[in-house]
Amino acid sequence: MASGSAPLPLVIASGNAGKIREFAALLAELPLEIRSQPEGLEVEETGTSFAENARLKATAVARASGCWALADDSGLSVTALEGAPGVQSARYADSDTARIARLLRELAAADGRRASAGLPPDRTAHFTAALAVADPSGRIRLEVEGTCPGEILEAPRGEGGFGYDPVFFVPELGLSFAEMDKATKASIGHRGRAFALLEPRLRQLLEGEAAMAAI
Ligand code: IMP
Repeated sequence: MASGSAPLPLVIASGNAGKIREFAALLAELPLEIRSQPEGLEVEETGTSFAENARLKATAVARASGCWALADDSGLSVTALEGAPGVQSARYADSDTARIARLLRELAAADGRRASAGLPPDRTAHFTAALAVADPSGRIRLEVEGTCPGEILEAPRGEGGFGYDPVFFVPELGLSFAEMDKATKASIGHRGRAFALLEPRLRQLLEGEAAMAAI
């Protein structure tokens, strides 16, 4: 963006204050004025993929606010559970503890079925974060996806993080997400990877918009 031009308002399509702060910090270097989404706006996550849900949220919030909007959708996909909990990650059970308990129970059952068929256990999984940016008309202008491969532990490890972090193990580092410091998780995690892809493309898009506005 040309120096001196006004920052572009960008609404973070989330009702979660923590998420908005996290996005604002990650976008701090860009010429943007970060805003929260209109009060009372609930967008149903009816998509069958993370990318589809991110697109739905970005479009709905852009149209409702008349501003550019950035949305994300993320979750955990476990190979032996055919990708579950997937887009249902947040709704898999009522609390983080219950979500982890259900995951370990279902994976133990899947391992049992594999053993009956003469197969070794499969604990592989990956996290995905999809990000979508919509312009004020609701048209999707940018989409990226970051993933982080790992394995599901037999029991939780570590005190940090949130959600499924205590059972998500990254073999290269020998640590669960809940055992990593924030900077390590940010650099190898799905959200950090998605942001690393988004940042240069968003910068380029903003420069293009500023050039058009200057004509
Ligand atoms: P979202 O807010 O719809 O993207 O919900 C994502 C859900 O996936 C969260 O409620 C968590 O259960 C899970 N999740 C996403 N990212 C992470 C992560 O980095 N660590 C642990 N759990 C995560």
